[in-house]
Amino acid sequence: MSTIVMPSAFDLARAVCPAGTEIQAPSVRFSAQIGTPAWPFISSRTTEQALPGTLIVRPGLDQGLGYADEVDDGEGEQDRDRDGGLWARVATDLSGTGTVQNALPQPYRQRALVDGLLCQVCAGPSAKGKDGWLFVLPGGPKVPSVRDTQWGEGLIEATPPVCLSCAHLSAERCPSLGRVAALWVKRPTLYGVYGTTYRLGPRGIEPVGPGIAKYETPALGWTVATQMLRELTETCLDQGLTARLRALHTRRRPKAPPRCPHAGLPSSNPDVLNRNLG
Ligand SMILES: [Zn+2]
Repeated sequence: MSTIVMPSAFDLARAVCPAGTEIQAPSVRFSAQIGTPAWPFISSRTTEQALPGTLIVRPGLDQGLGYADEVDDGEGEQDRDRDGGLWARVATDLSGTGTVQNALPQPYRQRALVDGLLCQVCAGPSAKGKDGWLFVLPGGPKVPSVRDTQWGEGLIEATPPVCLSCAHLSAERCPSLGRVAALWVKRPTLYGVYGTTYRLGPRGIEPVGPGIAKYETPALGWTVATQMLRELTETCLDQGLTARLRALHTRRRPKAPPRCPHAGLPSSNPDVLNRNLG
């Protein structure tokens, strides 16, 4: 009988980090460890800043954006996802320096989690049952009832799924989970990306602002992605688990929570941001 060995969160984070974008670890060892409630796999650190990359309009029929250095030495392995989306270039720092930013997903790690349907906190297998994968989202119905069974149907989400253990730990710790919804999703279909959209103006390439681009549409060619999205269909709100997570949250956080750290990120679509647990 063969045993499947899952890579550690650290190893996975290194594997999805493009060559040349990892910040070298300092000689001092820090205690922060990726893939834990203190540093969810999805969350960036303040040291993981944007890296330079000059955008160009790619020649040919398949017009859209690319990086200037693609012309000389080919596209970087991680510059695009497998559906052709172009991704922002960002540093990876696994040394644990800086401060964790739960409101800001690290693009390469978020992509790996959404693509692989892995747990957003520990990067292990997410919970999966007969009704699909478990997604734990803030902003659920005030008092869930049988009428809300299909709550979440059709949501476009940047939030990866979660395992049961991390769902419970997050409910206790995360200030945004007062009205959490535990959702089983049979068909979380890859949808597209969230990022910065651009257009070709009189003075060249100019940013338009944050936006969503669906895969296999012209908009994809004009977006530099920072998050991968799935559309949640065939959803089923788990009333029992939702109630248990809300009770855990209330028990650990009986007073009015401070302002949620997930609320500070600029967004044109609140449905796809600020939902990662932490
Ligand atoms: Zn987990």
